[in-house]
Amino acid sequence: MSVLPPTLVDALSNVRSVGVITGAGVSAESGIATYRGKGGVYDDPEEGDRTIEALTASTLKSDPDRTWRAIAKVARESAGAEPNAGHLAIASIERRVERFVLLTQNVDGLHQTAGSRNIIDIHGTVAETTCMTCGREAAFDAREELAKLDAAPRCTCGGIRRPNAVLFGEVLSEKKVRQMHDELVADPPDLVLLAGTSALFPYIAQPVFSAKTAGKLTVEVNPETTHLSDVVDYWLEGKAGALIPEIAACLGG
Ligand code: NAD
Ligand code: ZN
Repeated sequence: MSVLPPTLVDALSNVRSVGVITGAGVSAESGIATYRGKGGVYDDPEEGDRTIEALTASTLKSDPDRTWRAIAKVARESAGAEPNAGHLAIASIERRVERFVLLTQNVDGLHQTAGSRNIIDIHGTVAETTCMTCGREAAFDAREELAKLDAAPRCTCGGIRRPNAVLFGEVLSEKKVRQMHDELVADPPDLVLLAGTSALFPYIAQPVFSAKTAGKLTVEVNPETTHLSDVVDYWLEGKAGALIPEIAACLGG
């Protein structure tokens, strides 16, 4: 017996295309702290503000060592993290349906490790870098290398390397925004599943509104309510690792 509402189980049986939108909450069960929500960095508002400030474009400019130390701290805290049942279920959904896209705000690489393929990592990755002087790209061999940093890494030219991630106050990649528009907004999939995100960024909420307007199925998985919980067809109160496998089991039948 599914823990899902029977009307949702019925609706899921007709789904052929899926868009999943994730945030830090899907990695919480892998031991990585979220920003907001219980157990997040913002449980201590001052600590939350300091972390966010370190991860801004202006701090990268004025004090790149501070930005990299904040990134290294997160890397240390998430060292050894493995994909959880939620990540794995999302990867399995991709194998069960005709069309699939995953829009994630996470920079931890766990969706990639879990086997998801068509990923729009809208906030980029901290495991790859670009030299701010010569533009040369370089990747860390392993996330453990990131965790050891206590200052900004340098390029062979002596320049400072920046993470290939979108810092607070920076614009998104045009290419990724276009892909998001094409695959999620212009032609919304049969199901849009929002999981583990406070959905505060307008570009994260937009695909949910587009799907609603197009009469598609919208579902949210989150132990707490967000500003979209009243908008979606189903807000499922609970954890990604418990509920997404239930949803996956109803798809591709
Ligand atoms: P957020 O911290 O603002 O919100 C997390 C949400 O997840 C909350 O609504 C919370 O209730 C929910 N949640 C907590 N545990 C959950 C669980 N087990 N299952 C389902 N939901 C759960 O995160 P956000 O919306 O992703 O946005 C903030 C920013 O944080 C993004 O820019 C992202 O790049 C960055 N971030 C990334 C990571 C990561 O890569 N793992 C970690 C922290 C922050
Ligand atoms: Zn260089």
